Amino acid sequence: MSEECGPIQCKIGSDIIPMTSQKTYAGITFTHNLQSSSSIFDACVKGRTNLNSLLSIGIHPNGLNPVLSFNIIKSVVYSSMLYGCELWNSYTKQAVEELERTQRYACRRCIGLPKTSSTAVTAQCLGSFDMWSEVERRKLLFWNKLCLGGPKFLWKTLFIIRLCQFMYGSSSTTQIGFLPDIYNIMVKFNIESFINDYVLNIFVPPMLCWKRFINRFIYDFYYIRWTDKLNTRDEHKRYAAIHSDPGINPILQLSTKQISQQHVWDLVELFKYSISCENELVICKICEKTSKDIVLHFILECPGLYLSRDKMMDGVVNAIEVLSYVQFSELSIEDQCSFLLGDHSHVYLTGNIKGMVCEMESFL
Ligand SMILES: [Zn+2]
Repeated sequence: MSEECGPIQCKIGSDIIPMTSQKTYAGITFTHNLQSSSSIFDACVKGRTNLNSLLSIGIHPNGLNPVLSFNIIKSVVYSSMLYGCELWNSYTKQAVEELERTQRYACRRCIGLPKTSSTAVTAQCLGSFDMWSEVERRKLLFWNKLCLGGPKFLWKTLFIIRLCQFMYGSSSTTQIGFLPDIYNIMVKFNIESFINDYVLNIFVPPMLCWKRFINRFIYDFYYIRWTDKLNTRDEHKRYAAIHSDPGINPILQLSTKQISQQHVWDLVELFKYSISCENELVICKICEKTSKDIVLHFILECPGLYLSRDKMMDGVVNAIEVLSYVQFSELSIEDQCSFLLGDHSHVYLTGNIKGMVCEMESFL
């Protein structure tokens, strides 16, 4: 290396090594300033392209069961999108939001939800929290692998030097890269003591224990955040009652047990009603009465739908025990509506609800 009047030049022998602002190695692009936002945006573009190519195998509304579609997307698309995400750092909020937007795009395409569907429901109804939670999980697993690596490797030596610089160096507050990032993630989950344990006592949890531990921590963190989001907004009041347990929405979960494709998508329509809400009075197109809760009106009140309602109630009576039906009939009308839209759906829902769903759909 030699320094002349101009910028620094690197040489091999007499050959000058050309300057570049980014370099791709093993499929991962590194920039001169370690900014990863552009890599995240590129991953999102790649993800959307791969998603669109899955249309041909039936991943679209009225195609494969949405739960199955989403599992395929996670296996095929997410694995390529998140390749190398362990090394993403110095990213912007916009880049992280773009990742979430891509996940919502995938979920909406599986189920056929409109673009305006609530972000609090779109991914969680398929049992998935923020996509960033998966990035954080992979970063924490990568940290564990680095700590467990043997001392004979060059990368381990570099890792220890960088770690000591970060913990004790004068430039620790300005340092960028993997270590400041993993530290911030650990602070977020309140587990930063593991860094001190490693530096001071060389304590590293075994890989499987660490995996179970962080899975539980990340799950609890995002689950609490999601339920807070649902419970603090009035428009999600009904959905919060229906989808009170973690995992996939009960109606969508029920759809995985259906053989008939028509019946699957009837249940998906029912799910869509559970997330709809109105902020003002709506006039029923059947009986012309006004209602602030048109879904409840269609399911339990509208006189024009009494035949479909009778069929549905016959199905409910046949599917649950007498005592449960008595309990159901004693619920408030709002709770009955929540019950019929998925709350405890594993107990009672049957194919007899199909007729009513189809009829409601043409009027909503
Ligand atoms: Zn009506």
